[in-house]
Amino acid sequence: MIEFKKLRKVYKSRNGGKCVALKDIDLQLPDTGLVFIIGKSGSGKSTLLNLLGGLDTITSGDIVADGNSLSTFKKKDFENYRSSYIGFIFQHYYLLEELTVKQNVELAMGIIGKDNQNKVNDLLEKVGLAGYEDRYPKELSGGQQQRVAIARALVKDPKLILGDELTGNLDHKTSVDILNVLKEISKEKLVIIVSHNLDEADQFADRVIELHDGIILRDRTRITAKQYDFTIKGNVAYLPYFRDLTPEEAKILEAGLRSGRIKDIVQRDDGFVTSTYPKKSVRKHLLSRCNFHKKRKRQYTGIYTGKGFIGKSLTVLIVTLMILCVSVFSSMHKIEHSEVPYDSSEKYVSLVKGGLENPSNGIFSASYYRVLDEEIEKAESISGAKVYKLLGISTSITGSSSTAGSTQSDMRRNFRGFYILETYGTLLCDEQFLIDKYGKGGAVEYVEGSDPYSDEIPGVSIITDYTADALIKLNPDKYTSYEDIFTYEKATAIVKTGYKERYAEIIKAYDEYKGDDEYESLWHDLSRSSPLFEEYLREIVYSLGINYTFNEDFVGDIFANPKRTTGTVRHVVFERDGKVYPEELKTTLGVSYGSYKDSAGNKITVQNGQMKMAYDKYNSIFGTAYTLTNYSTDFKPHKVTMKVYDRNVEGGVMLCEMEFEIIGLVSASVTSGTRIGKDDFNKLKEYQIQTIGLYVENNENVGAVISELSTLEYAPKSIAFDAIAGINKILTVFVPLFKLIAGGLYIFIAVYLINYAMQTIKKNYFQIGVFRSFGANNFDVGNIFITGVVLTGLAIAVLSVGFAPLIVDMYNAILVESFALVLNTNAFDIRVINMPDWLPIVNAIGVVVLTAASAIISLLVIKNLKPIEIIRAKDNGGEVS
Ligand code: ADP
Ligand code: MG
Repeated sequence: MIEFKKLRKVYKSRNGGKCVALKDIDLQLPDTGLVFIIGKSGSGKSTLLNLLGGLDTITSGDIVADGNSLSTFKKKDFENYRSSYIGFIFQHYYLLEELTVKQNVELAMGIIGKDNQNKVNDLLEKVGLAGYEDRYPKELSGGQQQRVAIARALVKDPKLILGDELTGNLDHKTSVDILNVLKEISKEKLVIIVSHNLDEADQFADRVIELHDGIILRDRTRITAKQYDFTIKGNVAYLPYFRDLTPEEAKILEAGLRSGRIKDIVQRDDGFVTSTYPKKSVRKHLLSRCNFHKKRKRQYTGIYTGKGFIGKSLTVLIVTLMILCVSVFSSMHKIEHSEVPYDSSEKYVSLVKGGLENPSNGIFSASYYRVLDEEIEKAESISGAKVYKLLGISTSITGSSSTAGSTQSDMRRNFRGFYILETYGTLLCDEQFLIDKYGKGGAVEYVEGSDPYSDEIPGVSIITDYTADALIKLNPDKYTSYEDIFTYEKATAIVKTGYKERYAEIIKAYDEYKGDDEYESLWHDLSRSSPLFEEYLREIVYSLGINYTFNEDFVGDIFANPKRTTGTVRHVVFERDGKVYPEELKTTLGVSYGSYKDSAGNKITVQNGQMKMAYDKYNSIFGTAYTLTNYSTDFKPHKVTMKVYDRNVEGGVMLCEMEFEIIGLVSASVTSGTRIGKDDFNKLKEYQIQTIGLYVENNENVGAVISELSTLEYAPKSIAFDAIAGINKILTVFVPLFKLIAGGLYIFIAVYLINYAMQTIKKNYFQIGVFRSFGANNFDVGNIFITGVVLTGLAIAVLSVGFAPLIVDMYNAILVESFALVLNTNAFDIRVINMPDWLPIVNAIGVVVLTAASAIISLLVIKNLKPIEIIRAKDNGGEVS
């Protein structure tokens, strides 16, 4: 028995308004029979049915079904109630279009853990659908679909069948057929049908309940055939409505009226009487707990996993490709020296300690790490050949002050970039190297013993024949031959570059067409920025194996005092009373010796063991705050220990330690640099770093030398390395750019996957609602609908891990080939893309976690919603209100 007790339902609308759909309904229904609930649209019929069906929750009051009070139900109780007690038939059928007729019917059975094929077949026959088992809902007429829905509602043998406007979309004949089926069923079960068709109610209903604005307006029960008969009760005569009175009955009525015993006649024209409700309820629990039938659950999982296969495959393809791109983009890196393959076609490799290429021309120029003797020995023992030193400091060749002023501008004007740049530099070279490699009088003009710096700097100063020829051309009075240059200048050797032969045409054109426009562009071809010039430089550097240093400040150098009284000592710290200055960063100290005049014109000479320092330099080292006005009066002389290191980074080696007394500060306008005594200066010069690299003959051991010395901060230089330097220059731009793109793509992929997973679940909200309306629990529904999303994620994960090595190789080959093309060099066997092994795996885990989490979240969103709300989402385009 079903009992409604002061049942109230209030809907809250989004804008805060309230709608009382049912107003304290009291009603009792028997265990069998066909009950019609009629009323105008909006009168509360569906609300009543949804509450009774456990699809929506009660606002107040109660429904007691066979002693089960719905107002006390928890979520689980509702699931059990819907699955075992209720069979719901919706106006719009709500069949699942992915399932066949038979599968739709099996659904309700599967949810309660049963799988009785006979019953399914019997029912389909009973509703007239034998032979339609394997059709899909879309292939059926409306009436047929509604029959499927009826079979689905009946298949689990519920106590209560509920049908909401179930004939609303059907023609008259089909409606009558279906109602006949239900009438038959109502002999054993209670069937409640919501309808606004009064004729159908009159014809089929055992009871008709009429709602109006949420209250019961009328509640009529059909009287039985016996009750229809002619009867006299008290002084009322009741007439049968389905036949005329027999002559005997007519006589009795007439006699009764005449005698006055019968005072009233009632014509029962509708065959119904209004009900009165017995008021009692027993409390008992009939609800059974069921598990989803395993085979069915697998079947539905299969169907919903396969649903939208093309879309899923596309998602897998697109996301996999994007992830591969991202992995590749984020793994692009600059080539380390140790990664450069050794090219056996090269004559030699030079290794520069801490040597970094000059960013402007890619050729290494300056390096300040000191080469240690044991490193040279090590290189020699690995290489099995003599290893030469590369010297790091060049001196400028000087013009005398009388010629310099005029020649400087002449050189600029007449010799343009080509010549000027040539004359910028002198080469400093290991003497033994020149003798061994070229011999005196060979490729090198060589004058022994006339190097004015030979006592100060190891090695010889050499210039190219460009420079030498330029000097002769500019100063014909002073120089007539290379011998003259050796005599007057600080060069001890001249390298024969063969430029006259190589650039003969250009030089001839220059001499003939000087000042001509065409000449200008011709000349440009040999200017510093041209590839031709780069090529020329490279040839000098690589063929001679010497460190050619270009001094950009030629103008300054040409005027400089040739006497070497100044020098730079790198990586110095001072110690005073146990404290180190500067604490962290070792400083560079410009030093000089010799006397100078102070601001008052007095001659000052600093003795050995003494030091004078510019006051601002002193401030920067010792953290003091002397100013121009007080440095001379306030400073108190003090002793310091000066320590010279081979580098300004941690782990540097201390080269020497000297004691000084800082006797005073000076202004920078008086003298630049730090003044010390002559002997101290000469001692310190030894610790200027001169040998900065090694020249290693190219033999089969050179690879081993490179990898061994790489660990000692040596960077190799060769044509191969030079090309890599070019590639690295490109990568300087591309690595961060591609990392940025990768970052953006990562975000895009994440959003894409989250959206994909959520949308996939959302698209199935209606289906989930139908499952839930038949009592399936959240966990089972989750299993069925999440599997497809998770499998998609897994497919992406597996593919992106599997294809990573292939894609990396492919990208790498493309990049290396393009670099080779752009840089006009050989393609090297290098790896621009260096993907760590863990990256694809981390990405894959990310994809699976992200998709699964998003799918779970979108299921959690509707976890607590009532089935009717989820089903309605279909009509709201997927929006759950
Ligand atoms: P019927 O099925 O008799 O046409 P309903 O039970 O669907 O009527 O609706 C009864 C009343 O409750 C109507 O006024 C309707 O507008 C209102 N109503 C129904 N469902 C909702 C809902 N989800 N939110 C707000 N109001 C609703
Ligand atoms: Mg309705």
